[in-house]
Amino acid sequence: MQNRIIKALIFNKQVRLYLLNNTHLLNEILHMNQGSNIISKEALANSISVMSMLSATLKGNQRLSAALSFDQPKSKIFVDTDAHGNVRGYANDFLLSSSKNYSTVKELIGLKGSIRMIKANDFNQFTGITDMPYQDLDRDFSHYFKQSDQTETLIKTTIHWQGNKEIKNSYGIYAQLLPQSPTHLLNKVEEHFQSIQCVLNEPKTLINSEIFSLLNQYFGEGEIIGESNVQFFCGCSKEMFFGLLHSVDAAELKGYLHSRDPIISTCNRCGRNYSFNEEEIKLILGELNG
Ligand SMILES: [Zn+2]
Repeated sequence: MQNRIIKALIFNKQVRLYLLNNTHLLNEILHMNQGSNIISKEALANSISVMSMLSATLKGNQRLSAALSFDQPKSKIFVDTDAHGNVRGYANDFLLSSSKNYSTVKELIGLKGSIRMIKANDFNQFTGITDMPYQDLDRDFSHYFKQSDQTETLIKTTIHWQGNKEIKNSYGIYAQLLPQSPTHLLNKVEEHFQSIQCVLNEPKTLINSEIFSLLNQYFGEGEIIGESNVQFFCGCSKEMFFGLLHSVDAAELKGYLHSRDPIISTCNRCGRNYSFNEEEIKLILGELNG
């Protein structure tokens, strides 16, 4: 179930339930975001998990992007996804390099956190913004859907870290109450989150019929309605940034050569760094002079 979402309807089609394991995806993205601030990485990982599940709610060419601002308003996290399960995200430099020693994500979010979401397709877009009253990413994203879509939603994620850099396992659930269904059903889903961890945690050997019987054990009459994948994707490339370096002033390029520092360009969509060495800088200077 690595980087996979299983979609189900439970409680006799009254609740939509998505089950996710995105361990590989998170490790791939976190390796690109190289700052040292562990709390900011935790917040980024949690946000990516939520957005991974939300990718499964999109259709056609819809895209969804989230911008999170925190107590210190220059600290931001951006994550976006589309209906094909492509996910990318990054914590901005200010946050990644923050010397402030947050001890928890709650402290990082603080009292002034906000979530701004844009859902768009080729023709129109909808923007919603809510505060983060719970100072908890899962609960605040759920709060967003209640406020902005008037949809009762339950989002729960679990991320097991192995040291500061590596994630051992990451999984989560997204449950949405369908119209005219009683709210207490979401409480039942929440109560049994622990019980279904074997599906989310060690899913490699599980086949759909076993997942199906597990869902029926805890969530009344259920059915699996589909599956989808999530993966990292950003359209950026080294060639693209090499092209952009042609607009840098020649004197500045010579400065890099002089100091023997490589030029590091960071994609501000996915956080990936591209490094340009002496040879490459000389190549650009040659083209600029030529
Ligand atoms: Zn990128």
